[in-house]
Amino acid sequence: MPKPKVAFYWCASCGGCEETVVDLAEDILGVVEVVDIVLWPVAMDFKYKDIEAMPDKSIVATLLNGAIRSTEQEEMARLMRRKSQFLIAYGACAVSGGIPGMANQFPREQILKFNYEDCPTIANEKKVRPQTSFTEEGRETTLPQLHNVVRSLDQVVDVDYYVPGCPPTPKLTKLAVTALLEGKLPPKGSVIAPDIALCNECPRKETKPNDISFVEFKRPHQLLMDDKCFLAQGVVCMGPATRSGCEAACTTGGMPCTGCFGGTSRVHDQGMKIMSSLAANVAAKDEAGIAKTLAGIPDPIGTFYRYGLAKSTLRRKVNLPKEA
Ligand code: SF4
Ligand code: SF4
Repeated sequence: MPKPKVAFYWCASCGGCEETVVDLAEDILGVVEVVDIVLWPVAMDFKYKDIEAMPDKSIVATLLNGAIRSTEQEEMARLMRRKSQFLIAYGACAVSGGIPGMANQFPREQILKFNYEDCPTIANEKKVRPQTSFTEEGRETTLPQLHNVVRSLDQVVDVDYYVPGCPPTPKLTKLAVTALLEGKLPPKGSVIAPDIALCNECPRKETKPNDISFVEFKRPHQLLMDDKCFLAQGVVCMGPATRSGCEAACTTGGMPCTGCFGGTSRVHDQGMKIMSSLAANVAAKDEAGIAKTLAGIPDPIGTFYRYGLAKSTLRRKVNLPKEA
């Protein structure tokens, strides 16, 4: 009996999600034994044309990590969707845009201009930019083009399941792969992680204040943090607005949660949820006092939308025309 075919692919991401697959350690051998991996560019040499030649839906599942930023990534997302029975958004960038999604604060031209012309560490006197096509000795090479915005996988193609995290944990990865192989799948659209807030599995939860009044916010490097709830120390922690499942990796390790698992099903917009809760508890009541307290959060997008800007209500910055 032929083994079920499985594919791994990455788009706009750092590669950490691919590491997690390898972090399955000896379990990866169990996976390899029962499936036929047909695409995994980070680890093995496969050709896209072999995938194109496969019948549609002949791959049981593709775990695709990374956001969609370029024409090539969009093309591959559409190809893998066509060839796969189940397409899984694997990791925060595929689920909600992730760190690459923060680029939606700037239009493409501004990003290219800074990186190839204005960045203080770049030496590029001729202001050369990447070309999308190049001809040499009669041969033409084409390169992918960057889209103007970064999108999550489901903003481009239909997605069956979501495995959150930056990166997802090996435990959740194993859970997803096992559910697929045993045919014990949750309803389409499910997120493979518990649908409760991170605070529930945080070892600091006993010291989480019920009633709090923020007089100032501090960033982790600005104080000597103890083992109490970060919010009780005036340090922003995304735990109350974030889905659990990582076993509180960061808060156990001494750092506040930055929200990589996204919100629970009851959270419409993770950033807005935590922002509204923090803002409602600022002690100052006058404008100057409020501004002084909020100055302790100098990068609101990077703090509240580090992994979810592309999928949020805000989604991207719209440049308004200059006033006449
Ligand atoms: S440290 Fe963060 S995750 Fe832990 S209880 Fe406090 S707010 Fe929740
Ligand atoms: S504690 Fe928060 S940021 Fe850290 S792994 Fe868990 S969900 Fe992600």
